[in-house]
Order: sequence, then structure tokens, then C-alpha cells
Amino acid sequence: MEVSKPHAILLSSPGMGHLIPMLELGKRLVTLHSFEVTIFVVSSGTSPAESQTIQSSMSPKLCQVIELPPVDISSLVESKAKVVANLTVMMREIKPALRSAISTLKVPPTALIVDLFGTEALVIAHEFKIPKYVFIPTHAWFIAFSIYVPILDKVVKGEYVDQKEDFVIPGCRPARPEDVVEPMLDRTNQQYYEYLRMCKEFTMGDGILLNTWEELESSTLAALRDDKLFGDINRPPIYPVGPILRPNGSAGSRSHELFDWLDRQPSESVVYVSFGSGGTLSNEQMTELAWGLELSQRRFIWAVRQSTVRTGDGSFFITGKGGDDLSSNLPEGFLIRTQGLGVVVRDWAPQVDILSHPSVGGFLSHCGWNSALESVTNGVPMIAWPLYAEQRLNAALLTEELGVAVRSKILPSKGIVGREEINMTVRRIMADEEGHGIRARVKELKHKAEEALSEGGSSYHSLSQFTQNILMSMQKSPSP
Ligand code: UDP
Repeated sequence: MEVSKPHAILLSSPGMGHLIPMLELGKRLVTLHSFEVTIFVVSSGTSPAESQTIQSSMSPKLCQVIELPPVDISSLVESKAKVVANLTVMMREIKPALRSAISTLKVPPTALIVDLFGTEALVIAHEFKIPKYVFIPTHAWFIAFSIYVPILDKVVKGEYVDQKEDFVIPGCRPARPEDVVEPMLDRTNQQYYEYLRMCKEFTMGDGILLNTWEELESSTLAALRDDKLFGDINRPPIYPVGPILRPNGSAGSRSHELFDWLDRQPSESVVYVSFGSGGTLSNEQMTELAWGLELSQRRFIWAVRQSTVRTGDGSFFITGKGGDDLSSNLPEGFLIRTQGLGVVVRDWAPQVDILSHPSVGGFLSHCGWNSALESVTNGVPMIAWPLYAEQRLNAALLTEELGVAVRSKILPSKGIVGREEINMTVRRIMADEEGHGIRARVKELKHKAEEALSEGGSSYHSLSQFTQNILMSMQKSPSP
């Protein structure tokens, strides 16, 4: 019987950190495996960067992208609910719209892939009788930790952060209490219960795709597949298919001024500073960071988003709503004194293009996993400045396991990192002997990442296996 072209449905939750890898995964399925792909994007409704990213990523238009308008969830979340609760409730409420949108598609779907916040939509795959997968746009240690959380939930008494001992995850690096993911910080908050549910649902699909690669996390991936270690937890096949990132040169509109300036700087001399799409700093921390950069006398590009300057409240959904007067939130005279030494970029920076520029030699990052991978794949060492979500876990992985980052003594999410320490940390990565070692290590990983993605490489192979499984399921139950 003739089997038609596979048609994968991808579902992305709001947030650039989820949207970008989902768009790129879709493109890879089209270009490497001749899939037809429809991507449903649940929009945050507040970020102009989202639609710009969809536009620039889909030129040429390889996938059909359909935006599902945000739903009003105000009556469904507790007043003190945080980001994860907002995201998961929004993804739950979007299900009817998603179901009816899928049923109107001209080409019937053959597989559903949801991101980590979309696991409740897996039931829709049952209704359409198609296989279902979860794409976790982060690393293997995160998934090992997360699927173990329901066990921790039973045995740990009191708050996780108050525990004296590290959390032992079978066969994997233990996690420190201070590094647990954001929803685990308060076990009474709605977002903890939502996260606990997600942790159980991650394993309910026909497979888990991860934005990592075999060689980067070989021992964690081996542990995850070992029945002796994780036998009590249901685990579908795991496909490490990363790094899945936007290609360099695709960050959208480029400011000629910024890149002309970068072109004039010496090789690997510039530190890029950014806290991702949602990271915010208090005004006090902004001041210390500005002084720290100035004291270091290293060249820098600082992506200061206006909301960061204005609100400092850690909100994920607020973007670009601040005022215009940047200088009022920076130390007096900072912009004048650092003229020539550094560039302050407002709002959205063309990050992948900055990190791939040969003049950039360090990245002070909030450690969002996309940012971390963009740094690694461009051979740029990092200063880890984790703020929220799973960023503290990422920072521990990057510094202690992979050896591609340094971090401050005090966790930035716990207190103010002073100007002297920032100055010293920047020097550690940009000038000291320690920095040379880290730079060599990150360049090694950059090559390993390229190998993993190339034909015959581990991630290429893993994505091929994944697509083969979808083709096989189509042969078993061909569409009418
Ligand atoms: N990004 C960008 N310009 C910015 C801020 C972020 O291009 O000014 C991109 C960045 O390159 C990355 C994504 O947005 O691909 C952010 O994802 P990440 O996982 O690093 O962090 P999140 O924003 O989800 O916390």
C-alpha cells in the first residue's frame, strides 16, 4: 500500500526559548527528512520578537506556522501563581482550539510533537490515532532530574531548598538543593503541582526528543536508558537530536552600526551580556553590573531590555514596555565613560549573529539552554548568571560537568553580585590562564556538536531513527 508523506504537527508554548527550537526542529524535519510540518504556536500576545522570529525563521517558508491566540486564564490561576502555572494552564485551555485547528487541516496529521509545557495535549494524538512525542528543548540531566521528581516528592519532607544533602539521581550528577528548578522553590505554589504533573507526563509519549547530543552527556543518557537505574519509571525511547538552534546569520534585522563596531574590535576581545528573553535584574544589580563591566576595562555588548531596566520583577511576559531613558537606570556617566569600550543594545539583540562574530570572546549569560548552546556552538566561554526556570541546573552543568563556564561565588538569584566580583569574573574568562583552558574546552565541544549534526553523526542518526519510527507507524495504520 502506498504511504503518503508524513505530516508532523508541532505545538510550541509561549516564550522564545520554546518557540525557536520548535521552529528549527520543524525545519529540520522538512529539509532532512522530507516531512510536511505544521507548527502551532501559542502566542504570549505580548512579545513582538515572537512574530519577527517566526517571520525570519520561515523565510523561505518551509513549514506552515499557525498562531493560536492566547486564552484568558485570569480566573484559572491563583493570584500568586508564577510563570510555570501560567504557561501550563494556558496550554491546557488551548486544547479545544488546537483540536479543531488540527481537524481542519487539509493533510491529515501523522505525528504530534509537543514541547515540555504541552504534555496535556498528548491526548489529542489518541483522538487522531497518531504517535505522540515530547520535545524537551533542554538537556538530558534536566529530564533525568525531572522524571525523578515524583519520587523526591514522596520522600523529601519540607522545602527542597532547605535540605542539607544533595538530591541523588540514579547514575547522574546529583543536584544541589539551591539549584533546583524554579517550580520546586515553593511546594505550596500552584506551579509546583503543575510541574509535578508535567514530570509524570514527560514519559507518557512514544518518545522524548532532547536538545542535546550523545557525546555531550553520554553518561547521563546511558543512565537514563539503564533499567537497573531507572527501571521503576516508565521511559519511552530517548532521542538526543541537538544542538537544534537557529543558524548563524538568521537573527533577523542587523544593526550595521553594531556589526561595524564589532568588525573593528580585536579577535575574541568582546564580552556579550544578555539575560535572554525574560531575565530581569534589580536596579541595584544593574548598577553593580555596569560598574563591574567598567572596572574590568574589557570591551562589551550589553543587551539591556527596557523592561529589565524598568520593572526588575522577573516577569516573563512583559517585554519592551519600559521607558526610553536608559541612562537613568545606569550609574551616572556610564554611557559616556564607556563610549568606544562598549555598546548597549536596547531590547532584542541579534544574539546568534553576535555570538558567531570572531570579536566576541565571552558571554555573561542567564544560562537559558538555547543561549548556552549558542555559546558552545560558537566556541564562546561563559560566565554563568542563572536567574530562574531551570537555569541554576544549567549553570551547574556548564561549570562543573562540561567545564565551559565560570560562575560567581554568590548565586545571582540569591543576592547581589558586587562590582569587584563581576570585574574579577570577567577577567577570569577573558584574560586569566583559567580562561584559556575553558576556551580550549568549549572549542572542542563546538567541533563535537558539528560532528553530531553531520551526516552519520549521533544526532543525525537519532533524528533519522525517530522519523523512521513515524514512517513505520504510518505503514501500520495508513490514513484513509
Ligand atoms: N535572544 C535573542 N536576542 C535577545 C534575547 C534572546 O536573539 O536579545 C534569543 C537567544 O538567542 C535564544 C533565545 O532568544 O535563542 C532565548 O532562549 P534561552 O533558552 O536562552 O532563554 P529564555 O529566553 O528562554 O530564558
